[in-house]
Amino acid sequence: MNETNFSDPTIFLATTFFTFLAIFFRYVILAGILDLVFYVFLKDKFAIKKISTKPRGKKILVKELVWSGITSLIFAFTGVIMLILWQNGYTKVYIDLDAYPWWNYPLSICFFLLIHETYYYWLHRWMHKPAVFKLVHKAHHESITPSPWSAFSFHPLEGLLQAFVLPLFLLIYPMHYSAIVLLLVLMTVSSFINHLNIEIYPSGFEKNIIGKWLIGATHHTLHHTKFTANYGLYFTFWDKWMHTESAEYQAVLERFKKSKLK
Ligand SMILES: [Zn+2]
Ligand SMILES: [Zn+2]
Repeated sequence: MNETNFSDPTIFLATTFFTFLAIFFRYVILAGILDLVFYVFLKDKFAIKKISTKPRGKKILVKELVWSGITSLIFAFTGVIMLILWQNGYTKVYIDLDAYPWWNYPLSICFFLLIHETYYYWLHRWMHKPAVFKLVHKAHHESITPSPWSAFSFHPLEGLLQAFVLPLFLLIYPMHYSAIVLLLVLMTVSSFINHLNIEIYPSGFEKNIIGKWLIGATHHTLHHTKFTANYGLYFTFWDKWMHTESAEYQAVLERFKKSKLK
């Protein structure tokens, strides 16, 4: 690994290109599978748990694919920059599990998620200021009814504002390389669940000690349809503390509870 010099322009461009392909096709494959499973094969089963019933426009999928392609390129670029920084010893990423106490492994993941949540909540509130919204965040809200295809559909400026957080964290806080992979999986799964437009958590989950603090499809779809509430990323605590949680959130979940599908 250390023999490959990622700073070499040709290797840098080739690595960025192949990383981009990996990120973009991972998105296309996962979104495609979720689309088929939830909107085609199990369409009738989950119809009752659908949150926004507003039809998605014909052009939105193409827009989402283009924005997601650009986001994938930004993520690939920051990933390779990170690889160079790691290769030159600038990051706190470690390979030997014994380099830090075992508890640093779960702690580093939890710590990052809390920092990321706080950063994103306030960034998101700022991105909803009219002047900023038009330039930075409108692209994501073009998907008024979200779908798995919306999960990475961001304007490049928003993509950049999101992409640098993990690299910056890794310059400061020690994290095992496999914990980074696990974190990226968690981030991806969370984004797909939240944009599914179908509530997949069981009825009453929002009252559960874990479910209470976890954002799901209902929470985030209400953000896409209403624009004025539910700014959180993974967790509900900032929205609860700052009283920005949608008043409709519990009502929609109650409606689902009355449906036969538990
Ligand atoms: Zn928003
Ligand atoms: Zn969204």
